[in-house]
Amino acid sequence: MLTLRDVRKTRGEGRQRYSLVVPRFDLEPGQRIALVGPSGSGKSTLLDLLALVLSPDPGSRIELTANGRNHDIAALWRSGRQNVLADLRSHLVGYVLQTGGLLGFLNVERNIGLSRALLGLPTDPAVQRLAERLEIADQLSKKPSALSVGQRQRVGIARALAHDPPIVLADEPTASLDPLNAERVMRLLVAQAEERGVCIVVATHDASLARRAGLQPWELQVRPGDDGGVTATLGAAP
Ligand code: ADP
Ligand code: MG
Repeated sequence: MLTLRDVRKTRGEGRQRYSLVVPRFDLEPGQRIALVGPSGSGKSTLLDLLALVLSPDPGSRIELTANGRNHDIAALWRSGRQNVLADLRSHLVGYVLQTGGLLGFLNVERNIGLSRALLGLPTDPAVQRLAERLEIADQLSKKPSALSVGQRQRVGIARALAHDPPIVLADEPTASLDPLNAERVMRLLVAQAEERGVCIVVATHDASLARRAGLQPWELQVRPGDDGGVTATLGAAP
């Protein structure tokens, strides 16, 4: 569905330089992957590339196949087709942000429905079912500020799934949770992805939690360069 070949993303220069290198990475329907690496290794950078919000360096190859059509993502970036990229993103990608990214002035139900509303999709009983599965059905009329951190994170997950995107990305969704809640939220996320047949990529620094949740780990390995900067290379974890 998403194919990356020789993808690079460089930020800063000299001692401030950070380069992400992805020699080869394929995302197939139903796949469940963890991106594992320490803070600053480039997990969020890679998720942003996958989410089509960040442009890759020249020479990178990113292709997307969706609904029987192929899209040359790198070419779309090169030619500045932001509107096409935005349209693909809103239909195909659900993004769970590290701190939930919920809108404080909307209640939980409307926060979950936001991804559908933005696409002009009608409200759907599936949203209620999703809330039940994520164990927040009794919180729908509350504002996010009245929820626990774990509940807010589950609202963020529900919102990322509500418009039925084939790709769901999650940026350290359990980082701000205590171990018990982290385990629970990670399992609920994976279970929902499984039930809906979507592929998920979850960034985390906790490789063992990822494995326990049934995610296939890919590692970002960071090496210093001669210029004092760093290069992080993505590879399948042993
Ligand atoms: P992680 O999510 O694994 O903590 P990030 O992807 O956030 O790592 O960061 C990878 C590297 O990219 C870091 O060296 C960081 O300083 C740098 N970086 C992140 N965002 C930006 C930005 N907007 N501009 C320049 N450099 C950035
Ligand atoms: Mg990050």
